[in-house]
Amino acid sequence: MSTTSPPQHATDTVDAVIIGAGFSGLYMLHKLRDELGLHTRVFETGDGVGGTWYWNRYPGARSDSDSYIYGYTFDQGLWEEWEWSERYPESHEIRGYLEHVADRFDLTEDITFGTRVLSATFDEAAGRWTVTTDGGETVTATYVISAVGALSASNTPPFEGVETFAGSTYHTGEWPHEGVDFTGQRVGMIGSGASAVQAAPLIAAQATELTVFQRTANYIVPANNGPVDPDVKAARLEDWSGIRERIQQSNFGFELYLQEKGAADASDEEREALLEDFWNRGGFHIWLGSYADIFFSTEANDLVRGFLDRKIREKVHDPETAELLIPKDHPFGCKRNPLDSGYFETFNEPHVHLVDVKSNPIAAITRDGLRLADGAEYTFDALVFATGFDAMTGPLNRIDIRGRGGELLREKWAEGPRTYLGLTSHGFPNFFTITGPQSPSVLSNMPVSIEQHVDYIGRIIADLRARGAAVIEPTKEAEDGWCTYNQEIANATLFPTADTWYMGANIPGKPRQFMPNLDFVGPYRAKCDRIAENGWEGFAIDGEATPAGEHVYTWALAG
Ligand code: NAP
Repeated sequence: MSTTSPPQHATDTVDAVIIGAGFSGLYMLHKLRDELGLHTRVFETGDGVGGTWYWNRYPGARSDSDSYIYGYTFDQGLWEEWEWSERYPESHEIRGYLEHVADRFDLTEDITFGTRVLSATFDEAAGRWTVTTDGGETVTATYVISAVGALSASNTPPFEGVETFAGSTYHTGEWPHEGVDFTGQRVGMIGSGASAVQAAPLIAAQATELTVFQRTANYIVPANNGPVDPDVKAARLEDWSGIRERIQQSNFGFELYLQEKGAADASDEEREALLEDFWNRGGFHIWLGSYADIFFSTEANDLVRGFLDRKIREKVHDPETAELLIPKDHPFGCKRNPLDSGYFETFNEPHVHLVDVKSNPIAAITRDGLRLADGAEYTFDALVFATGFDAMTGPLNRIDIRGRGGELLREKWAEGPRTYLGLTSHGFPNFFTITGPQSPSVLSNMPVSIEQHVDYIGRIIADLRARGAAVIEPTKEAEDGWCTYNQEIANATLFPTADTWYMGANIPGKPRQFMPNLDFVGPYRAKCDRIAENGWEGFAIDGEATPAGEHVYTWALAG
């Protein structure tokens, strides 16, 4: 891949700046440059395209979405010409796909790699943004679009003594490109989320010893990865428009549909048969395709938990380890459900150990390894931080984004994100966040939500230009309403009862607020479309506002 060196201390004037060259940034560039004819620049910290997938190269890193829907659907030819090798695409294959997209649409020439955007400041008099980069460049633009991703600001907890460790340290979200050989090493891994679940079996296969430090046990269901049946592949290839339509209208961006009957309404035999079938199929069936009442009712949720607890006890030989791996403190489905390719079985290996750091937290990283609160010492050659991300708001808060009156976005969001539709924020005109907080984003198959947001931003900008209008921003009333609505619908579910990164609970001091929007993909899309058809309800265009109708704050899922 060719990279463009950032010009030192240069200035440029463009129509749009896009921050990030992952799934979001690439399609946004294509949309603005090739469909709308806008002079557009993209800045990307990595030295290649891929976004999240540029950095996440840890062993076993792959998407938990089925590969046939883990890509763009806006171009039938692109969809049909790319062949994925397995049911779930591996990290390097996703990067290969995005490189192919960049080549196919000649995108790299407008991307400046190896360059971090430091600030974006709105100049009220000029009605334009000034963007600065760590390459010394200053660019002014009419529109700024954040394509920074939801899970791109990696989190290493501020453990005391972390700098004293004599061995090697790695973060799953910033893995060395050349890979790591753990042969002959004693490895400590902190964390038991989706990244750890994927990495542990492969690290265990190399290491002399692997010790996983678990703070919260997760419900983990089988991935059942492998090659896809050629007949299934062929049928999908014939059905581009059908698949596109179905995932766009679905709740989660998958071809998965919640059952009409609740877990509590099904007989024990019925429920057992359904869960067993979904368990065997693998993927998110049990989470996103089983019973809707698990998201609302503890009793219903407990019925599914009982099934999952039993499965863990069946897989893990040592009863004490099995008990530790069974979540006790949150409902199923309210914490991101990782997919398993041998994680539980790894703990049946004699050289793999599980240590509970909820009851006995990590007190410090030491020269030789780490120490727990009760004084227990562990010695390692390498430490793997599978400690996740400052999710959703983290990547945006790292940039100095200043709107009207010099207001800093991260200060405005000090008590939690404040947006309208998870796409725009009052006081930040012509600034858009693709799959930002308070949009369905991370509760969906991301490429589907990304395409919807990119198309919608394209629609907004095209309409502004057709009207000869300069700026659009949400009204404060619409934004306040959206924030209240988001919390109200979240509070109607069990999601806020779990300490998750959805709630900001993984980052000490982060405000506790449910960050994704629970409208879900299809209904959210319909809502956005109606807002557009009704003359951009909730937005002010060049100061002229259209109030948001009641439907904006109506939850399709209610009832
Ligand atoms: P994560 O789910 O946030 O997991 C981080 C782990 O580190 C958690 O077990 C967390 O414990 C633990 N941890 C954090 N701070 C700690 C501390 N001070 N002491 C001890 N343990 C600590 O992060 P992730 O596994 O990187 O995954 C993040 C998200 O990225 C996923 O939920 C998923 O959406 C996405 N992802 C997707 C895929 C995929 O599609 N295949 C793969 C990887 C990641 P707590 O749970 O107690 O906070």
